Amino acid sequence: MDLSRFPRRRYTPFATPLEPLPRLSAALAATCPGGRGPELWVKRDDMLGLFPGGNKTRKLEFLVADALARGADTLVTCGAPQSNHCRITLAAAVKEGLHCRFVIEERVAGSYDEQASGNHFMFRLLGVEAITVVPGGSDMAAAMQRVVEELAAQGRTGYVIPGGGSNALGGLGYAACAQELQQQWFEMGVSFDRVVVGSGSSGTHGGLLAGFLGNRIGVPIVGVGVSRDPAQQEPLVWKEAQAVADLAGGGFAVPRESVRSVGGYWQPKYSVPNARMVEAVQMAARTEGLLLDPVYTGKVMAGLIGLARAGEFAPDARVLFLHTGGLPSLHAYEDVVLGRAARDLAP
Ligand SMILES: *Cc1c(COP(=O)(O)O)cnc(C)c1O
Repeated sequence: MDLSRFPRRRYTPFATPLEPLPRLSAALAATCPGGRGPELWVKRDDMLGLFPGGNKTRKLEFLVADALARGADTLVTCGAPQSNHCRITLAAAVKEGLHCRFVIEERVAGSYDEQASGNHFMFRLLGVEAITVVPGGSDMAAAMQRVVEELAAQGRTGYVIPGGGSNALGGLGYAACAQELQQQWFEMGVSFDRVVVGSGSSGTHGGLLAGFLGNRIGVPIVGVGVSRDPAQQEPLVWKEAQAVADLAGGGFAVPRESVRSVGGYWQPKYSVPNARMVEAVQMAARTEGLLLDPVYTGKVMAGLIGLARAGEFAPDARVLFLHTGGLPSLHAYEDVVLGRAARDLAP
């Protein structure tokens, strides 16, 4: 796959680290059948640029380059009240001298709070120009189009970035990540049996899958759903992977069976904590000093832990966990991750 013909802004001046997690691997193995578990490694995409970075940074490298090429002066995007994607898009806008507006979807009724900490605090600090709050289930594309029309009436040019930055162009960021991983594995002389990644708006999972297939990397990817079970999530990922492959000129069909996700770890609802997430966040923090977030990576690591305990990985398997970031929202859930709200949590 040759991605060099796509305009790209660079927000991370290095390949994110690939690190072994020996103490977390040992702690996990102790809770697996026969006391044996996989050898865990982490890809530190929580260290991407546009501090504090995360997976959206890779997508925005291509999306913002396109916005600039089209003469936009304002980025318009959408997300949940504690959206990492909105915060990172805003950081990119600031860095490029653009304005930025959000449409925030109140997916959990009453969850939007003007005084909230975490990402919401950063929206204010980084200087978002305007926030429109709409009820859960609203047509977000239409709401963003209205913002673009308001801007046009003032002689301005808005550029719409879909939720999570997950269209074909944004997904190229994770096709590029596949190439980065391939190079790193080769240089470090390490190979993997499985990659575990969060699967939400699907640009990360789908883009990475397109990149693996397009570069003939045979390592299977498992997506842990953060808002949907496989029957709803896998068709989304399949569509995204195919769109990325088509845009990149891959000339291949993404096999349906290459798309695999697991469910059961995001419940009771997107962004609402559960006990297995708390266990995963505490385990990673206390064995490796590795911080995970409550909405995404904590639930994804809970999925990895659950799969390991269910015997999904061979005992000597090397498994790579893609850390997609999200740390600012940790501060919006401090009591929960410290276990102070344990009695009120779903399993
Ligand atoms: C957005 C996000 C995800 C999910 O990635 P998608 O590309 O939307 O599937 C995972 N982790 C974090 C921290 C995120 O902010």
